[in-house]
Amino acid sequence: MRKRSKTGETLLNILYPRRCPVCHDIAAPRGQRICTKCREKLVPVQGPRCCICSKPLEDPQEEYCGDCRRISHHFKKGIGIFPYNPIIQNSLYQLKYGQRQEYGVFYGEFAALYAQKEIAQWKIEMLIPVPLHRRRQEKRGYNQAEIIARSIGDKLDIPVNIRSLYRRKNTKPQKELNPSERKNNMKDAFCIRKSGTESVNGKNILLTDDIYTTGATLDAAAQCLRNAGAKEVYFLTIAVGRDRPV
Ligand SMILES: [Zn+2]
Ligand SMILES: [Zn+2]
Repeated sequence: MRKRSKTGETLLNILYPRRCPVCHDIAAPRGQRICTKCREKLVPVQGPRCCICSKPLEDPQEEYCGDCRRISHHFKKGIGIFPYNPIIQNSLYQLKYGQRQEYGVFYGEFAALYAQKEIAQWKIEMLIPVPLHRRRQEKRGYNQAEIIARSIGDKLDIPVNIRSLYRRKNTKPQKELNPSERKNNMKDAFCIRKSGTESVNGKNILLTDDIYTTGATLDAAAQCLRNAGAKEVYFLTIAVGRDRPV
């Protein structure tokens, strides 16, 4: 992606001042991606987390969350950064449905810093945003997972691949479904383009998305990439839901 010049950035900031992903007002001081006073309201998950999906755990003795104990995933492991509290919920809602693409850039930059160590440890060679179905993307005008991936890729100098994986089923929104319906809904939802197999073959891939709930979407995408020859698939999401009681 072509980088905008400094002057271009400044001009854009005057015409369309960046909004803060926490208070949704124009970020203060102007030009920052988040208000100084709002930054402290964004607190990543603290305390014990699932070794695979990074969900916060009630019991510090446990290694895995209920879901990861019950089922094995196609991805190897991943990180969700923020607990899914009302601040994050509202912020991600505006990113997805409110045309606040700049929030995705902010979260991507945050993620690049926050997960830099893991991304290096996992030897990530390629970022793949979870694709939207073509019709949904046309309606929205962008894919929030792609904005996040590009922002991470820019910071850490990792290529972003949006061509190889695509969504062939225009699935129902996962939030309307229970866990088993979610899994079913995602069955065969993703597909690899013929030319994509070569690009993902033998690579360590990081999938990006806005939220991890049951992991059904990321798992379906990971399965597709593994079938196409990807070495290992990891994930990074901006928010992560709570563990469900078994
Ligand atoms: Zn603010
Ligand atoms: Zn887990």
